Amino acid sequence: MPQLRQDLVTQRWVAIATERAKRPSSFSRAAAVPVPPAATCPFCVGHESMTPPEVMAYRTPGSEPNTPGWEVRVVPNLYPAFGPADIEPIVSKEGPYETMTGVGIHEVLISSPSHADDFAQLSAGQTAKVVRAFVERYEAHRSNPAIRYMLIINNHGKEAGASLEHPHSQLFGIPLVPSALREELDGTRRYRAEHGGCAYCEILSTEQKEKVRVVAENDDFLTYAPFASRTPFETAILPKWHSARFEEMSAGQQVNFARALHDLTARIHTGLNDPPYNFYVHTAPVHSTDDVDYHWHLELLPKLSIAAGFELGTGLMINVATPEAAAEYLRAVDDNAHSAGASPTVH
Ligand SMILES: [Zn+2]
Ligand SMILES: [Zn+2]
Ligand SMILES: [Zn+2]
Repeated sequence: MPQLRQDLVTQRWVAIATERAKRPSSFSRAAAVPVPPAATCPFCVGHESMTPPEVMAYRTPGSEPNTPGWEVRVVPNLYPAFGPADIEPIVSKEGPYETMTGVGIHEVLISSPSHADDFAQLSAGQTAKVVRAFVERYEAHRSNPAIRYMLIINNHGKEAGASLEHPHSQLFGIPLVPSALREELDGTRRYRAEHGGCAYCEILSTEQKEKVRVVAENDDFLTYAPFASRTPFETAILPKWHSARFEEMSAGQQVNFARALHDLTARIHTGLNDPPYNFYVHTAPVHSTDDVDYHWHLELLPKLSIAAGFELGTGLMINVATPEAAAEYLRAVDDNAHSAGASPTVH
């Protein structure tokens, strides 16, 4: 019988449709075609003049801004969804409807000068530089009064919304706290009021004890398939210490977060043959001082199923892979296949 499961934090229900369940290996795609560098790619090394001037870059000493010699490069989005950020948002009414000016920030973090090297192919050292850039750009904007929330996202593959194939992440600063965060903030407060303690810390200890949904772990982070996963192979990376803020990681924790992210994207890449996916970091709103109950995390959702009429009409996702089977499958992906060029192996 299909099983409905409720998320501990958001109280969102999902249907795990075991009757329709597929074998995890059936989600593996046809062999991905290697991506050739595009002569017109604005993110490739040598094409620095095709983007707005960089706002930050990690460069070899002596190299000039907006020229080659960078390892990670951050530029404003040429077609920003939000901006500018130097004015306060104006709220007004259109009849009964409320509007707000879309002030904010929209930056692109180019994770490698090489066109083909996405997270799964980057070295652990390069991934650590990307994570450091995430934190530094977050810090650069966190005191801006116009910004209420900042989100780091990564879209991988065309079906996941990546308009340019060159590996990059994006930082959004927006003038409101989005509903997805509100749900989690409200959920963590409700959990503490009803049970005491942090809901995410409870998830951490439950998953470490039960082990069936654990994908991997290191000293600072647990990677697991959430109990109420919305899509096949939904996964999350959770800090093992209680902290509301991604941006307050120590340098050592940043390195272990980069290791966890590299490990997870490599397992997804190898085990499922480079599927499209989205990941994003959920951290506490920038200016809040009362979100000590919150516990930051990263969520990764491969695009292996389509939200259709039932999902759109109910908000209730039907997931055709159990999180337990997905975690078991990802656990078994050969660690040796994680480095660039190694042939994928699944036990
Ligand atoms: Zn490129
Ligand atoms: Zn916690
Ligand atoms: Zn979340």
